[in-house]
Amino acid sequence: MNILILGGGGREHALAWAVMQNPKCDRLIVAPGNAGIAQIAECASLDTEDAGAVVELAEAEAIDFVIIGPEAPLAAGVADELRDAGLLVFGPSREAAQLEASKRFTKEICDAAGAPTAGWARFDSAAPAHAHIARIGAPIVVKADGLAAGKGVVVAETEADAIAAVDDMLGGAFGGAGAEVVIEEFMTGEEASFFVLCDGETVLPIGTAQDHKRIGEGDTGPNTGGMGAYSPAPVMTDAVTQAALERIVRPCMAEMARRGTPYQGVLYVGLMIEEGAPRLVEFNARFGDPEAQVLMMRLGAQALDLMQACAEGRLAEMRVNWAEDHAVCVVMAAQGYPGAYGKGDVIGGLETLPESSVQMLFHAGTAARDGKIVSAGGRVLGATARADTLERACEMAYALCDAVDWPQAVFRRDIAWRALGREDN
Ligand code: ATP
Repeated sequence: MNILILGGGGREHALAWAVMQNPKCDRLIVAPGNAGIAQIAECASLDTEDAGAVVELAEAEAIDFVIIGPEAPLAAGVADELRDAGLLVFGPSREAAQLEASKRFTKEICDAAGAPTAGWARFDSAAPAHAHIARIGAPIVVKADGLAAGKGVVVAETEADAIAAVDDMLGGAFGGAGAEVVIEEFMTGEEASFFVLCDGETVLPIGTAQDHKRIGEGDTGPNTGGMGAYSPAPVMTDAVTQAALERIVRPCMAEMARRGTPYQGVLYVGLMIEEGAPRLVEFNARFGDPEAQVLMMRLGAQALDLMQACAEGRLAEMRVNWAEDHAVCVVMAAQGYPGAYGKGDVIGGLETLPESSVQMLFHAGTAARDGKIVSAGGRVLGATARADTLERACEMAYALCDAVDWPQAVFRRDIAWRALGREDN
């Protein structure tokens, strides 16, 4: 089978790594890929949001299966065009990807499906939004309706902050994405991510994870794209998982099908769990990054079989082979991230890493220059490991970090601290 993966981050390196382990994969092209991916697959430079160009590449290279990594091509309708051209695709249609691309759309689906989530209201002008904030009070959450690269959510501690956020968003800080705002009730509890595959009808859980959004140890400092993750999430007990499936995921997927826009692909279910009861924070239409790294580390070669069955509408016949293991990913970032950061740091020590089927340094923002690997983004590497215990997986992931020769790297030493604390108790 000839496979094309769209994307070029740590998530796509992890997807490529898992796919390559499956003997079904004859040839793998990743577009655009990165320097790490280039070591295991062919990379093709391509504008992944240009559906015509993606179809052309897929046809020219006799691709049998396309896996779409990031959200932008999904929101641009690339999956639809590929399907129209007769290709097998893993990833939702533009309509179904609205579950990520529009906060309002997701809230409407939740309401129609009776799925528990924060109370909400939508506004496209400031005065009624201000009045709503005054009525509800702080804390309160203000969200730009559309895609804003993870920056369109303000958890406001005061009414003044909420009003400023509304004015910012409606004033065009996020362009069209903020032309409408969703204002939500503030939820308390513990957050976890739950991943399922859906083939339009059947829902198959493929793992849980928790990530660390803040740059600093102890979950302090500014928000980032994610500084690390671990799987499974201890808060996702069997009872919580069942509740999330029965009350949130299955009803919402049924509502999508009922509307004639069935969801096909991976669904990232962001949950807030309080006293064993999950409520939906958000859906994403793709794997998380760095959550994909820990999920792929745990799923290995079967990830390809599962994604293929999902795309072919055969999930009902699939089972996930679970090992009782734990995986951890520690993100190594460039100095200055998530603010301004430099590029071009030479990263050494990569030739002698202790890499194996349970320990991998995934590349995110890297490039090859003059035969050397250099940093080329904010989040640069994802040291990922799997073991029988979370503690051992952490030791192995940090052993990878310590083996990398990159003095300017910034990474947290406390990934999975909350879960480790739990295990000790
Ligand atoms: P992501 O980058 O994770 O895709 P996003 O921009 O789509 O984020 P959300 O996931 O909706 O935004 O919100 C980001 C974060 O804000 C959540 O992970 C959560 O910590 C917090 N948050 C969002 N909504 C609420 C809420 N109603 N109550 C409390 N916290 C919330």
